[in-house]
Amino acid sequence: MIPTFEPGALSVLCLMAHPDDAEILAAGTLARLRREHGATIHIATVAMGDLGSVEHPSAEIARIRHGEGVLAASLLDGTFDCLGERDLCVHYHPAIFHKAVTLLRKVKADIVITHAPSDYLLDHEEASRIARAAAFGAPIPNLLPGMAPLPRIPWLYYADPIEGHDALGRPAESEFFIDISPTITDKENMLACHASQRDWLKKHHGMDEYIEAMKRHGALQGAKAGVPFAEGFVQHKGHSYPQENILLRILGS
Ligand SMILES: [Zn+2]
Repeated sequence: MIPTFEPGALSVLCLMAHPDDAEILAAGTLARLRREHGATIHIATVAMGDLGSVEHPSAEIARIRHGEGVLAASLLDGTFDCLGERDLCVHYHPAIFHKAVTLLRKVKADIVITHAPSDYLLDHEEASRIARAAAFGAPIPNLLPGMAPLPRIPWLYYADPIEGHDALGRPAESEFFIDISPTITDKENMLACHASQRDWLKKHHGMDEYIEAMKRHGALQGAKAGVPFAEGFVQHKGHSYPQENILLRILGS
Protein backbone atom coordinates (compact mmCIF):
# COMPACT_ATOMS: atom_id res chain seq x y z
CA MET A 1 0.00 0.00 0.00
CA ILE A 2 1.52 3.31 -1.08
CA PRO A 3 0.74 6.10 1.41
CA THR A 4 -0.65 9.35 0.07
CA PHE A 5 1.83 12.20 0.12
CA GLU A 6 0.60 15.75 0.35
CA PRO A 7 1.96 18.00 -2.43
CA GLY A 8 5.54 18.86 -1.51
CA ALA A 9 5.78 16.24 1.23
CA LEU A 10 7.79 13.66 -0.71
CA SER A 11 11.53 13.56 0.06
CA VAL A 12 13.82 11.96 -2.52
CA LEU A 13 17.48 11.19 -1.92
CA CYS A 14 19.77 10.31 -4.81
CA LEU A 15 22.83 8.79 -3.12
CA MET A 16 25.57 8.06 -5.61
CA ALA A 17 29.34 7.59 -5.51
CA HIS A 18 30.67 10.80 -7.09
CA PRO A 19 29.55 14.30 -7.99
CA ASP A 20 27.85 14.16 -11.43
CA ASP A 21 26.65 10.53 -11.16
CA ALA A 22 23.19 11.64 -10.04
CA GLU A 23 22.96 14.10 -12.93
CA ILE A 24 24.05 11.51 -15.51
CA LEU A 25 21.83 8.70 -14.26
CA ALA A 26 18.73 10.12 -12.59
CA ALA A 27 18.41 13.90 -12.92
CA GLY A 28 15.54 13.73 -15.43
CA THR A 29 13.50 11.69 -12.96
CA LEU A 30 14.50 13.91 -10.05
CA ALA A 31 13.41 16.95 -12.05
CA ARG A 32 10.03 15.41 -12.82
CA LEU A 33 9.54 14.59 -9.12
CA ARG A 34 10.34 18.19 -8.29
CA ARG A 35 8.37 19.85 -11.09
CA GLU A 36 5.26 17.66 -11.01
CA HIS A 37 5.02 16.64 -7.37
CA GLY A 38 6.93 19.33 -5.50
CA ALA A 39 9.22 16.68 -4.05
CA THR A 40 12.19 17.85 -2.02
CA ILE A 41 15.31 16.72 -3.84
CA HIS A 42 18.52 15.76 -2.07
CA ILE A 43 21.62 14.74 -3.97
CA ALA A 44 24.50 13.16 -2.09
CA THR A 45 27.74 11.39 -2.87
CA VAL A 46 29.78 8.93 -0.85
CA ALA A 47 33.07 10.14 -2.33
CA MET A 48 34.41 13.63 -2.88
CA GLY A 49 35.43 13.36 -6.51
CA ASP A 50 38.97 14.14 -5.40
CA LEU A 51 40.67 12.21 -8.23
CA GLY A 52 38.63 13.81 -10.99
CA SER A 53 41.24 16.15 -12.38
CA VAL A 54 44.58 16.20 -14.14
CA GLU A 55 45.30 19.80 -13.24
CA HIS A 56 44.02 20.42 -9.72
CA PRO A 57 45.37 18.73 -6.56
CA SER A 58 42.92 16.45 -4.73
CA ALA A 59 41.75 18.90 -2.08
CA GLU A 60 41.17 21.61 -4.66
CA ILE A 61 39.23 19.47 -7.14
CA ALA A 62 37.16 18.07 -4.25
CA ARG A 63 36.27 21.62 -3.26
CA ILE A 64 35.46 22.58 -6.86
CA ARG A 65 33.29 19.52 -7.33
CA HIS A 66 31.43 20.11 -4.09
CA GLY A 67 30.53 23.54 -5.42
CA GLU A 68 29.41 22.03 -8.73
CA GLY A 69 27.23 19.53 -6.85
CA VAL A 70 25.63 22.29 -4.81
CA LEU A 71 24.97 24.31 -7.95
CA ALA A 72 23.42 21.39 -9.85
CA ALA A 73 21.14 20.47 -6.93
CA SER A 74 20.11 24.10 -6.55
CA LEU A 75 18.53 23.99 -10.03
CA LEU A 76 15.90 21.76 -8.43
CA ASP A 77 15.92 23.82 -5.22
CA GLY A 78 17.67 20.82 -3.73
CA THR A 79 20.51 20.11 -1.32
CA PHE A 80 23.89 18.50 -1.88
CA ASP A 81 25.82 16.48 0.71
CA CYS A 82 29.06 14.53 0.55
CA LEU A 83 29.93 11.74 2.98
CA GLY A 84 33.63 12.48 2.57
CA GLU A 85 35.24 9.28 1.26
CA ARG A 86 38.19 9.29 -1.15
CA ASP A 87 37.65 8.36 -4.79
CA LEU A 88 38.42 4.71 -5.60
CA CYS A 89 38.38 3.90 -1.87
CA VAL A 90 34.63 3.62 -1.38
CA HIS A 91 33.77 0.48 0.52
CA TYR A 92 31.16 -0.61 2.97
CA HIS A 93 32.31 -0.16 6.57
CA PRO A 94 30.46 0.73 9.80
CA ALA A 95 31.42 4.41 9.89
CA ILE A 96 30.23 5.13 6.35
CA PHE A 97 27.11 3.05 6.94
CA HIS A 98 26.33 5.20 9.99
CA LYS A 99 26.93 8.39 8.00
CA ALA A 100 24.52 7.18 5.34
CA VAL A 101 21.86 6.28 7.93
CA THR A 102 22.28 9.72 9.48
CA LEU A 103 21.83 11.32 6.05
CA LEU A 104 18.68 9.32 5.26
CA ARG A 105 17.21 10.36 8.59
CA LYS A 106 18.26 13.99 8.22
CA VAL A 107 16.49 14.34 4.86
CA LYS A 108 13.62 12.05 5.94
CA ALA A 109 14.01 10.05 2.75
CA ASP A 110 10.88 8.46 1.33
CA ILE A 111 12.62 7.33 -1.86
CA VAL A 112 16.31 6.50 -2.32
CA ILE A 113 17.90 6.19 -5.75
CA THR A 114 21.40 4.75 -6.01
CA HIS A 115 23.75 2.95 -8.41
CA ALA A 116 23.13 -0.44 -9.94
CA PRO A 117 24.63 -3.29 -7.88
CA SER A 118 26.85 -4.17 -10.87
CA ASP A 119 28.51 -1.20 -12.56
CA TYR A 120 31.81 -0.39 -14.20
CA LEU A 121 33.39 1.05 -11.08
CA LEU A 122 33.69 -0.53 -7.65
CA ASP A 123 32.99 2.84 -6.04
CA HIS A 124 29.54 2.70 -7.65
CA GLU A 125 28.87 -0.86 -6.49
CA GLU A 126 29.97 -0.11 -2.93
CA ALA A 127 27.90 3.08 -2.82
CA SER A 128 24.95 0.93 -3.91
CA ARG A 129 25.57 -1.48 -1.02
CA ILE A 130 25.89 1.40 1.43
CA ALA A 131 22.58 2.93 0.24
CA ARG A 132 20.85 -0.43 0.41
CA ALA A 133 22.04 -1.08 3.96
CA ALA A 134 21.22 2.46 5.09
CA ALA A 135 17.69 2.18 3.72
CA PHE A 136 17.17 -0.98 5.74
CA GLY A 137 18.79 0.41 8.88
CA ALA A 138 17.34 3.92 8.98
CA PRO A 139 14.00 2.86 10.58
CA ILE A 140 15.64 0.75 13.31
CA PRO A 141 15.41 2.69 16.63
CA ASN A 142 18.36 0.97 18.31
CA LEU A 143 20.63 1.95 15.44
CA LEU A 144 22.15 5.33 16.32
CA PRO A 145 19.63 6.08 19.09
CA GLY A 146 19.16 9.76 19.76
CA MET A 147 18.16 10.46 16.18
CA ALA A 148 14.57 9.89 15.13
CA PRO A 149 14.34 6.76 12.96
CA LEU A 150 12.53 6.83 9.63
CA PRO A 151 8.91 5.69 9.84
CA ARG A 152 9.57 2.98 7.25
CA ILE A 153 12.18 1.59 4.89
CA PRO A 154 12.32 3.97 1.90
CA TRP A 155 11.57 2.81 -1.62
CA LEU A 156 14.92 1.84 -3.09
CA TYR A 157 15.78 2.09 -6.77
CA TYR A 158 18.87 1.29 -8.79
CA ALA A 159 19.57 3.57 -11.73
CA ASP A 160 20.94 2.12 -14.95
CA PRO A 161 24.65 1.36 -14.76
CA ILE A 162 26.84 3.77 -16.69
CA GLU A 163 26.43 3.19 -20.44
CA GLY A 164 23.77 0.57 -19.77
CA HIS A 165 25.95 -2.47 -19.17
CA ASP A 166 27.24 -4.24 -16.08
CA ALA A 167 30.83 -4.82 -14.96
CA LEU A 168 31.19 -7.77 -17.34
CA GLY A 169 29.88 -5.84 -20.32
CA ARG A 170 26.49 -7.54 -20.36
CA PRO A 171 23.51 -5.33 -21.23
CA ALA A 172 21.72 -4.26 -18.07
CA GLU A 173 18.00 -4.88 -18.15
CA SER A 174 16.00 -1.93 -16.86
CA GLU A 175 12.88 -3.08 -15.02
CA PHE A 176 10.98 0.05 -16.04
CA PHE A 177 11.56 3.43 -17.63
CA ILE A 178 10.67 6.97 -16.64
CA ASP A 179 9.95 9.34 -19.52
CA ILE A 180 12.32 12.27 -19.01
CA SER A 181 11.46 14.06 -22.25
CA PRO A 182 9.78 16.89 -20.27
CA THR A 183 12.91 17.42 -18.17
CA ILE A 184 15.80 16.66 -20.52
CA THR A 185 16.72 20.35 -20.45
CA ASP A 186 16.81 20.30 -16.64
CA LYS A 187 19.08 17.28 -16.82
CA GLU A 188 21.34 18.95 -19.36
CA ASN A 189 21.55 22.13 -17.29
CA MET A 190 22.34 20.18 -14.13
CA LEU A 191 25.06 18.16 -15.85
CA ALA A 192 26.53 21.33 -17.32
CA CYS A 193 27.12 22.55 -13.75
CA HIS A 194 29.92 19.97 -13.55
CA ALA A 195 32.26 22.00 -15.69
CA SER A 196 35.41 20.44 -14.26
CA GLN A 197 34.31 17.00 -15.43
CA ARG A 198 33.70 18.05 -18.98
CA ASP A 199 37.38 18.99 -19.12
CA TRP A 200 38.56 15.95 -17.14
CA LEU A 201 36.65 13.39 -19.22
CA LYS A 202 37.99 14.94 -22.36
CA LYS A 203 41.55 14.40 -21.15
CA HIS A 204 41.20 11.03 -19.41
CA HIS A 205 38.55 9.19 -21.44
CA GLY A 206 39.07 10.98 -24.73
CA MET A 207 35.39 11.88 -24.52
CA ASP A 208 34.58 15.36 -25.63
CA GLU A 209 30.86 14.90 -25.44
CA TYR A 210 29.91 14.96 -21.79
CA ILE A 211 26.38 16.13 -22.46
CA GLU A 212 25.93 14.55 -25.88
CA ALA A 213 26.83 11.13 -24.46
CA MET A 214 24.22 11.60 -21.74
CA LYS A 215 21.61 12.51 -24.34
CA ARG A 216 22.52 9.57 -26.56
CA HIS A 217 22.01 7.17 -23.65
CA GLY A 218 18.77 8.90 -22.74
CA ALA A 219 17.58 8.55 -26.34
CA LEU A 220 18.59 4.87 -26.40
CA GLN A 221 16.55 4.17 -23.28
CA GLY A 222 13.79 6.36 -24.66
CA ALA A 223 13.59 4.23 -27.80
CA LYS A 224 12.95 1.17 -25.60
CA ALA A 225 10.20 3.08 -23.80
CA GLY A 226 8.69 4.65 -26.92
CA VAL A 227 9.52 8.21 -25.87
CA PRO A 228 12.28 10.66 -26.90
CA PHE A 229 14.30 10.36 -23.67
CA ALA A 230 14.07 8.01 -20.69
CA GLU A 231 15.94 6.83 -17.61
CA GLY A 232 15.82 3.18 -16.62
CA PHE A 233 15.58 1.75 -13.13
CA VAL A 234 15.31 -1.49 -11.19
CA GLN A 235 13.46 -1.54 -7.89
CA HIS A 236 15.03 -3.32 -4.92
CA LYS A 237 12.45 -5.78 -3.68
CA GLY A 238 14.26 -7.73 -1.00
CA HIS A 239 12.39 -8.84 2.08
CA SER A 240 10.74 -5.95 3.97
CA TYR A 241 11.60 -3.25 1.40
CA PRO A 242 8.53 -1.58 -0.16
CA GLN A 243 7.23 -3.75 -2.99
CA GLU A 244 4.90 -1.33 -4.73
CA ASN A 245 6.44 0.86 -7.42
CA ILE A 246 5.87 4.44 -6.28
CA LEU A 247 8.03 5.95 -9.05
CA LEU A 248 6.03 4.26 -11.74
CA ARG A 249 2.76 5.09 -10.04
CA ILE A 250 3.38 8.81 -9.82
CA LEU A 251 5.51 9.33 -12.95
CA GLY A 252 4.30 6.57 -15.27
CA SER A 253 2.12 7.35 -18.23
ZN1 LIG B 1 30.90 7.85 -10.45
